[in-house]
Amino acid sequence: MKEFDLIARLIPSLPTNVSVVQGAGDDCAIVEPGSPLTQTLLKVDAVVEGIHFLPETDPVRVGHKALGRCLSDVAAMGGIPVAGLVTLGLPSNHDPERIRHLYEGLGRLATRHGVAIVGGETTTSPERLWISVSLMGFVPRGKAVLRSGGCEGDAVFVTGELGGSLAGKHLDFEPRLEQGRWLAESGRVHAMLDLSDGLAGDLGHLLAANGGLGAELMATSLPISRAAIQRAREVPGARPPRAAALMDGEDFELLFTTSPKDAVPLLNAWKARFPDLRLTCIGRLTREPGIRLRTEQGLQVIPPRAYEHFA
Ligand SMILES: [Mg+2]
Repeated sequence: MKEFDLIARLIPSLPTNVSVVQGAGDDCAIVEPGSPLTQTLLKVDAVVEGIHFLPETDPVRVGHKALGRCLSDVAAMGGIPVAGLVTLGLPSNHDPERIRHLYEGLGRLATRHGVAIVGGETTTSPERLWISVSLMGFVPRGKAVLRSGGCEGDAVFVTGELGGSLAGKHLDFEPRLEQGRWLAESGRVHAMLDLSDGLAGDLGHLLAANGGLGAELMATSLPISRAAIQRAREVPGARPPRAAALMDGEDFELLFTTSPKDAVPLLNAWKARFPDLRLTCIGRLTREPGIRLRTEQGLQVIPPRAYEHFA
């Protein structure tokens, strides 16, 4: 079967929703533009074999990751994802079953979050498989949470647990869409982004968006994942757990700041609303630039390092 026929067969069985006027099959898809009360979010992201996944990675998980990365970004704005488009770069020797499984993983995640897949395109790629997903979403007008908006003295929070994502979470993470929307609706969040480049790297991005403010983190507060602890014990060359929580990438958790007076009410409301997901205050924003970690030995400067992939 040619990939054209394969994709043509796969796409119409993927999820749709009430915003879709015309799904895949015509020259363009048609999607309702929301209402005057919303603004449109647009996002594109790609995953590449050898960089974001390995040739032997289960394609169901690869499809999940390809869409999940875009959904995580929509979550970080406090938005609602609506419709996605998929472009596949296929090596000439590709296995059609791999593509079917890839769409299965992508479609399952899309269904869970009410996202329609309204188009798919393929191109030949010389060696490696890659998938690019374009996503459209909505956010209530003027209510998107930006990376900027942080203030000196703000409490810094992170959802979930950090580090060791290479053990599996980088493929299987659940984008924090519900939490992102809830946080945006709380009206208490000043600045937010999702963690793809590691806490130190992404916190560096947040600080840069806030006129060069700094941050002081408490080492004992970092929510270190069990995977990070296990990897440090079992995988030669893996980072120690605390360094993993700071430096490992692809946690796909939310990092945000609130005014210090809102920190405790927000934590309490969170525990009532999301009892199964940790929310941790890990430090505060400071006037002094850079990232410092308060440890048992005193203050340590953390270089804002970006995440390194497989390749
Ligand atoms: Mg992001």
